[in-house]
Amino acid sequence: MVRIGAHVSSSKSLDLVFDRAKEIGAETVQFFLNSPRSWSKKERSDEEVKNFLNKKNLFHIYPVVVHASYLYNLASSDETLRRKSIEGVVKDLRFCDILEIDYYVIHPGKAKGQEEKIAIENIKSSLDSIFSIYTPKKTTFLLETLSGQKGEIGKTTYEIKELLSVLPENKSGVCVDTCHIFSAGYRINTEDGFEAYKSEFDSLLGLERIKVVHCNDSKTPFNSRKDRHQHIGEGSIGIKGFELFLTDEFFGNLPYIIETPKENNYDVINIERLRRIVEKSTCVRSSEG
Ligand SMILES: [Zn+2]
Repeated sequence: MVRIGAHVSSSKSLDLVFDRAKEIGAETVQFFLNSPRSWSKKERSDEEVKNFLNKKNLFHIYPVVVHASYLYNLASSDETLRRKSIEGVVKDLRFCDILEIDYYVIHPGKAKGQEEKIAIENIKSSLDSIFSIYTPKKTTFLLETLSGQKGEIGKTTYEIKELLSVLPENKSGVCVDTCHIFSAGYRINTEDGFEAYKSEFDSLLGLERIKVVHCNDSKTPFNSRKDRHQHIGEGSIGIKGFELFLTDEFFGNLPYIIETPKENNYDVINIERLRRIVEKSTCVRSSEG
């Protein structure tokens, strides 16, 4: 079964992510451990961890996903920034294990003027360092597909495959972002384009490496190489694209997390839109059966 949820705020106390998810009708949840645009990491009390684990058991909201900080750049040519990023990720992964987080999602990195080949080698070496310092026990490490804006690495399935090659298969995987892949040049809102993406991914990595979908429409046109999320059905992907994903025999069994603009009660509306697609397709299937 598909599970539909959202990225929510973790401000005040981490356990509140479950309350916030429940309030908007989310079945799965994603959040940041700390402000994604600051290097400082909050000290968390045993009490806060205990509350988090209690609610995690109580609320039946899963999988639970942590998104890494936007400041990390595992591709950086700046040794200090790269080391800081590696240390930050290691610290996050240790804490994710304590919180029994299912998936940790990170943007692979930005080339920032370097040759892409070098940026890719930097990321691979960073990933290798992270896993040699700390291999997570309970959390699976996911690389997110990116749009390719500002020299981002991870805009093609080939790049993702190359990066994942240094990680243990049973501890790593992929988070597919619908807005990013569409902006990167995968036409996933037509049947042919969707099938082409699926079969490319399957032949290069195997579909089973995909664990989470970031479910966002796109404010910018196809192949724009821009990362601008839009409400479901209101962007250049359109409802048809989400129908293809949610009703697919493989993709229809994954968790979907919206990261759409936080405006009014749009989280509820976007989740409803996705749920309607799923319900419609189950109706059709049961009437056929
Ligand atoms: Zn992301």
